[in-house]
Amino acid sequence: MGGVTRDPMAIWLARVASRAGFSGTDELAREHDLKPYRLRQMYRAAAKELLPGVEAVTTLPKELRAALAACGVTFSSVAPVTVQRSSDGQTTKGLFRLDDGSEVEAVLMEHSGNRTTVCISSQAGCAFACAFCSTGQAGFTRNLDAVEIFDQALYFARELAVRRKRITNVVFMGMGEPFHNYENVMGAVALLNDPHGFGLGLRHITISTVGLVDKIERFTDEHLQVNLAISLHAPSDELRSQFMPVNRKFGLDELMTACERYVEKTRRKVFFEYVMLESVNDDAACARQLAQRMRGHLYHVNLIPYNATPDAPFAGTSEPRIWEFARILDAAGVPTTVRRNMGRDIAAACGQLRAKTQPRARAAAVAAGR
Ligand code: SAH
Repeated sequence: MGGVTRDPMAIWLARVASRAGFSGTDELAREHDLKPYRLRQMYRAAAKELLPGVEAVTTLPKELRAALAACGVTFSSVAPVTVQRSSDGQTTKGLFRLDDGSEVEAVLMEHSGNRTTVCISSQAGCAFACAFCSTGQAGFTRNLDAVEIFDQALYFARELAVRRKRITNVVFMGMGEPFHNYENVMGAVALLNDPHGFGLGLRHITISTVGLVDKIERFTDEHLQVNLAISLHAPSDELRSQFMPVNRKFGLDELMTACERYVEKTRRKVFFEYVMLESVNDDAACARQLAQRMRGHLYHVNLIPYNATPDAPFAGTSEPRIWEFARILDAAGVPTTVRRNMGRDIAAACGQLRAKTQPRARAAAVAAGR
């Protein structure tokens, strides 16, 4: 298999050391006389055993634990600000604060059976300004590092462990554009996947992109088993450019060519997300045009009921109409599913919680004309 080697333990240790104010892992190790096996013990304790902090690592001598804790070694770079559970208990949404005060969201969905999905953020804010998305409306703050991304999953993994459950799927469908923060996202993937650490199979991870063609090509060449999802949302350039500015840079033909190449090289299916916006992209003509683009390829369409957000001038398509749209795709032989909506009562759509608690960020974005 091709691809860049990313050493998850090295990534983790370097971030833990720098958060504690060291220049890197070497300085941390020197300062505390940590042999390589001690560093491994710390990493395993956090990523595999899901311990909350260095104080809990009983394989380390007591004085060492105290000394490491005292100098700022911690096992989490994301601090929960608010955590809300939906009334049915199936969806838990967390707003997390990073060291510099930026905030990101992550959502845990507990499906029937033991299947659980965590939706994580790759950036604070987003630079792509999709008109229907709350995160897009608030503008871009910064990239998350690989550990800040990983730590969102780790937070929920610890919560689930209490109930003897574990994370079975991770999706990069929270705030931000994963392919706009490519290396850190791939670092987070390596951390999630590490068999000596968190140990989640690559096939249980999905990266969703707005459609950055150059990065889709790069991703293709890595031959990873990670699932690829494309936020398509419209079957024509004319329509897509109206609410997804990225389409003016990478048009649909170019995007679809990149997807075909991905399937050809990896033999893996591509998932297309299509958010159903009332009277915008939901009529029968759109369905037929979409079917035309999808037909005959290893593609799957996922229709997403729109979570209306207070700051965007869109309404969601009604359920019967979504099913009618699905029926047209289905009749054309395009594998289609309709996403089940979870967590509506806690505003679990991308960027919604942050928009509520950071009204000033929103006001500033409006003032800046974003
Ligand atoms: N930047 C990535 C990940 C973003 S969020 C991407 O564009 O794919 C994941 C999905 O949620 C995207 O398909 C996005 O378009 C969709 N989405 C954003 N806001 C939404 C809303 N209010 N309701 C439903 N889906 C939404």
